[in-house]
Amino acid sequence: MRIILLGPPGAGKGTQSERIVQRFGIPQLSTGDMLRAAVAAGTPVGLEAKAVMESGGLVSDRIVVGIVADRIEEADARRGFILDGFPRTVAQAEALATMLAGKGLSLSAVIELKVDEDALVGRIQKRAAETLARGQAVRKDDTPEVFKQRLEAYRAQTAPLSAYYAKTGLLRTVDGMQPIDTVTTELMSVLEPHEERVAS
Ligand code: AMP
Repeated sequence: MRIILLGPPGAGKGTQSERIVQRFGIPQLSTGDMLRAAVAAGTPVGLEAKAVMESGGLVSDRIVVGIVADRIEEADARRGFILDGFPRTVAQAEALATMLAGKGLSLSAVIELKVDEDALVGRIQKRAAETLARGQAVRKDDTPEVFKQRLEAYRAQTAPLSAYYAKTGLLRTVDGMQPIDTVTTELMSVLEPHEERVAS
């Protein structure tokens, strides 16, 4: 089962991915984690990616597609994987399709967690205010300002992926504003039909 979970920051992708990993025993492949590991190890990819990552820009498609292509060859990804943080643009989605086709593979499903983005900003503002009221420091990427920037980047670069995957017929939408367990139940019912096909 090869899955992509789409949705803006704060939509609950991390929480739901963990549950998908548990339920189906497939790894979650995070390009952000892989790049950070490459930077820490000082590999050629890491050296190339370091400055771009520090400035908050996007690492080149060549590098990102390359690390994903290598990673999915590993044994634990043979039964499938869930991609996290990739693809981030339509160009990356196209490159992913070409790369998978070259390996005789294809995606099983792309699920979009639909959320009310204004409500997300409100949720983050409330969390930041509560943290401050407790006398604690607010996480750097959890301030309303930074969160809005991340949301903007998502809208501009990643949101067009919904239309792209809708055209391919792979897109399924789940209402991400529901309680966490309800979202999980709906996700599982979208994914379960794909389990046998890939396992066989
Ligand atoms: P993340 O942990 O997903 O927020 O990613 C951290 C950083 O890694 C991003 O700010 C980018 O610099 C880089 N990165 C992660 N995934 C990608 C991607 N799919 N395309 C380009 N750059 C990426």
